[in-house]
Amino acid sequence: MIRKIIEIDEEKCNGCGLCAKACHEGAIAIVNGKARRKPDFDNISFYHSR
Ligand code: SF4
Repeated sequence: MIRKIIEIDEEKCNGCGLCAKACHEGAIAIVNGKARRKPDFDNISFYHSR
């Protein structure tokens, strides 16, 4: 299965943490008030699109 790489737009992210809670793979962390993809999950997809 081919998956798209997520792209996090830090300007749009308000750090609410919903994406981190929703991600079943635990690929997202909130760091300094912004969502960040964890380094071990560089091929996980989704998020706010630009
Ligand atoms: S990217 Fe995640 S933490 Fe940032 S606003 Fe969207 S759902 Fe909230």
